[in-house]
This record gives sequence, structure tokens and C-alpha cells, in this order.
Amino acid sequence: MDIRTVGVVGAGQMGNGIAHVMAIAGYDVLLNDVSAEALEKAVALIRKNLERQVSRDKITADAMEAALARITTTQDLPTLGKADLIIESATEREDIKQKIFDALLPHLAPHTILTSNTSSISITRLASRTDRPERFMGFHFMNPVPVMQLVELIRGIATDKPTFDTCLGVVEKLGKTAASAEDFPAFIVNRILMPMINEAVYTLYEGVGNVRSIDESLKLGANHPMGPLALADFIGLDTCLAIMNVLHDGLADTKYRPCPLLTKYVEAGWLGRKSGRGFYDYRGEEPVPTR
Ligand code: NAD
Repeated sequence: MDIRTVGVVGAGQMGNGIAHVMAIAGYDVLLNDVSAEALEKAVALIRKNLERQVSRDKITADAMEAALARITTTQDLPTLGKADLIIESATEREDIKQKIFDALLPHLAPHTILTSNTSSISITRLASRTDRPERFMGFHFMNPVPVMQLVELIRGIATDKPTFDTCLGVVEKLGKTAASAEDFPAFIVNRILMPMINEAVYTLYEGVGNVRSIDESLKLGANHPMGPLALADFIGLDTCLAIMNVLHDGLADTKYRPCPLLTKYVEAGWLGRKSGRGFYDYRGEEPVPTR
């Protein structure tokens, strides 16, 4: 199927990156959010990130202007109905995602492929509540989207081959690499990554190390480019907690129980970089550990 227009729901950290890479690859993008402020911030950030790519000679100034011209923002969700492919990338809460799909369904063209960038929620369950489970799948980008090479493509139980092949074609047009994953909680990357981050938070909670020593240990001792707590702040602690809860509930194994300290940070609204504070405080010149 020929995809020309891509609708992106949610203009947060992931949504703006998805709009960015889609526009550079030549797709027309309809970017939606409930918040006008989020849309304004997203466009400003896309411009800034594109300018950085121009200054590094990765793209030309003309390509940047053409990409920006391909992005239309809207707070009106039904406008996305004319898209050939929709990537839902709103807050990681099933009730929110459900409401978005319910509101979109009456306005969709029959051929439209619906996807979700969810990090952990069951694709099969989301799909089953739509009128097109065969044209529904997981389209899971990594953060930051313009930089990271991988996209996980997740088939629900009903996803048909043309839908999978069409999404694979989009990933290839983006110049990225797809990994095919089955629809089990948190798929591949987060099934492995999140328990490691959660264990790092337990290590902090139990006083085995502090924020700096835990991050340094994994950077210098395991050659990770970023420590697990810095990475958690980067992903968003609310997103990390939501994924651990999905693993815990979906696999019913106590080894996935979220660390109480992770819950505490989320309760405090210390969600990481996006809220200015998490395992590090980002409000000054340099990030400062909060424990
Ligand atoms: P975020 O908090 O940065 O952004 C979420 C955006 O969704 C906000 O701008 C919010 O206003 C918007 N939103 C909320 N309700 C909405 C609605 N009803 N309609 C339209 N917009 C709505 O979150 P994020 O990190 O961009 O995560 C978005 C999705 O991407 C989640 O499903 C998350 O699991 C997934 N994801 C996140 C990461 C990551 O590293 N943060 C990586 C891969 C996938």
C-alpha cells in the first residue's frame, strides 16, 4: 500500500521525533495533541533538531524547509482521519489510548492503518477494540527518534501480512532497521531493558550504591554509553513505571515488581528530564544527583 500522509497522535518527546523523521523521509505529517503548548513546543524542537542536522551537513537547508512545510499541527483529532497511516504516541496509559482510538474510528478511511508506539501495552487488546484488528499493529520507535536506528514492529494476533509489509516499507524509507517482535508484554527491547533499570533503582533504594556510583559502574564496568538512572530520566520515570507495571501484571512474576523508590519519584512528579528533576536535578547548569 502507498503511504503518503502519516498522522501522529501525541506531540511529546516521541511524537515530535516521529513527525521529524517522517517529514524528512517525504511523508506529509498531521501532528495532533490535546495541548496547544505541546504542539508549539514540538514544532520549535523539530526546527532546532533539523537545524542541528543542517549544521552537521546531514541534510541541506532546503530539505529542512521542505520537511517543516510537510508538517501540519492540529488539536482536532478527526482531521487525522484522512491519513494513510496513523501512529498513536500519546501518554503511556491504556485508557488514554483507548479514548483516542474510539474518537478516531468514525473518521478513518477504510484503508487507514492504525498503529501504536506503545512501549508495553498489548497490541492485540488495543486492536480488538477497533473495527480493523487486521490493519492494526505496534510501531515502536526508540528515543531519541531521529538518532536511534531501531524500530520494533509488533504484530497483534490478527495483524495481516499487507499491513506488516506496508509498515516495514515505511521503516525502510526512514532509513531505519526493523526488528519483528511478537505481542507479549513490553516486546523485546523493554522486556530486557526495563528490569535492568528497575534493578538499578533497587540498588539505589537498598543503598548498595548512590546515583553517581551506579551510573558510573554500568558505564565503565559494562561499557554502557549511559548509566541506567540517567537513561531512566531520559525515558521518563512515569513511562518506566508504566512498563514495569505492564510486565508485572502481564507476566505475573514477582521478579518484575516495580521498585517502591521508582513509584515514589513518580508520585513526587519527579519524572526525569521532561519535568526538570528525576534521579538527577536538571535545573542548574549541570545535572546533580538527587540521592
Ligand atoms: P510524553 O509525555 O513526552 O508525551 C505524551 C503526549 O501525549 C503529551 O504531549 C500529551 O499532551 C499528549 N496526549 C495526552 N493525551 C492525549 C490525547 N488524548 N490526544 C492527543 N495527545 C495526547 O510521552 P512520550 O515519551 O512521548 O511517550 C509517548 C508514547 O511513546 C508512549 O506510549 C510511550 O510508551 C512511547 N514510547 C516512549 C519512549 C520513551 O523513551 N519516552 C520510547 C518508545 C516509546
